[in-house]
Amino acid sequence: MIIASNFKTNHTRASARAFVEALGAPKCEVRVFMPFTALDNFETNCQIKMGAQNFYPVQSGSFTGEIGAEQLEEFGIQSVLIGHSERRHILQEPTTLIRQKFAFAVVKNWEIVYCIGEPKEVREEGFEAVKAYLETQLEGIDMAYERLIVAYEPVWAIGTGLSASVEQIQETHQYIKTRLSAPLLYGGSVNANNVASIVGLKECDGALIGSASWKKEAFLEILNHTT
Ligand code: PEP
Repeated sequence: MIIASNFKTNHTRASARAFVEALGAPKCEVRVFMPFTALDNFETNCQIKMGAQNFYPVQSGSFTGEIGAEQLEEFGIQSVLIGHSERRHILQEPTTLIRQKFAFAVVKNWEIVYCIGEPKEVREEGFEAVKAYLETQLEGIDMAYERLIVAYEPVWAIGTGLSASVEQIQETHQYIKTRLSAPLLYGGSVNANNVASIVGLKECDGALIGSASWKKEAFLEILNHTT
């Protein structure tokens, strides 16, 4: 069971540290995808693994405003998010760059949390359309990579308060699991009230959580419901 928190553009260096200290020693595997500005805050052997929400697929170079591998490696970061819907849709990250990032992270042997998920209009077309859409996001991705974790995050469920139903998650995860053997997380408006029924599905290996995970008390409550 893996429970991951995505801080997005929230938390300062100080509040991120207080958050992690409050978690103590969780009973399941925890990842926290920190803002870059907080990543230097932690020991690499910390029981809770810190990850980067983004990176540019170079060791170092001339890419103004970007963070390369050299800078993450200095802090011992070995876990990265790739393909998050906010980067795909709000920041217009192209598929070519997503695939480059994936290939780069594989060479680095980093753990990759690869996010996939369909927009609302595709879900409304029906499940065949959802499957076809997810296939396009899996194309060019090494699904046999041994440090891969996939997160199914329907775009319409992220940050909306409207989680996919347990039936929708089950059906979609069943399909994705025919395509890969990596752990499969669900993300999209997970909170303390729905987490147990979602991660209780045998097709679900954990959750990737945004807004409901930013307050330490709320995240602790989520963790309590999963163990
Ligand atoms: C996310 O950002 O990956 C996410 C799932 O956000 P939220 O939990 O707020 O929907």
